[in-house]
Amino acid sequence: MSERVSWDEYFMNIARVVATRATCDRKHVGAVLVRDKTILSTGYNGSIRGLPHCSEVGHMMEDGHCVATVHAEANAIIQAAKNGVAIDGATIYTTASPCWPCFKLVANSGCRRIVFGEFYRDGRIFEFAQKLGIELVELDVPARPDVQPTDTGAPHPLTAPRGG
Ligand SMILES: [Zn+2]
Ligand SMILES: [Zn+2]
Repeated sequence: MSERVSWDEYFMNIARVVATRATCDRKHVGAVLVRDKTILSTGYNGSIRGLPHCSEVGHMMEDGHCVATVHAEANAIIQAAKNGVAIDGATIYTTASPCWPCFKLVANSGCRRIVFGEFYRDGRIFEFAQKLGIELVELDVPARPDVQPTDTGAPHPLTAPRGG
């Protein structure tokens, strides 16, 4: 029998499935809010509710990024708000590290822990997570023959902030 996955791997795997619903094909991101091993809400990056997807009408480009979508982390927080679910003290699992605007939302929503898959864009989150006492964890992706790790041997993110 194969080894059971850890809770972190379990929720990150779910975040990866959530990401498959993303509607901007420039980047597919999924996020899951969790407390006490229970999923509170999920989110993926997609257009404003009721508006057409990037895949249908094209991207809304600004400074080299598509700004049409609400990001996965923001949508997970919004879904919790819509449904009246308290997320204070939660952990957020996100397939890509939060951008700066999402990091601010995550911090103010009371999340105490951020677990991310790949690093994305903004190295300021490492410094500010440390200042805020938010645990920031880069989850090692299990090796797959078709996906080679890109930064093997890199120092721990908390001790070596990376630029984006
Ligand atoms: Zn787009
Ligand atoms: Zn974001």
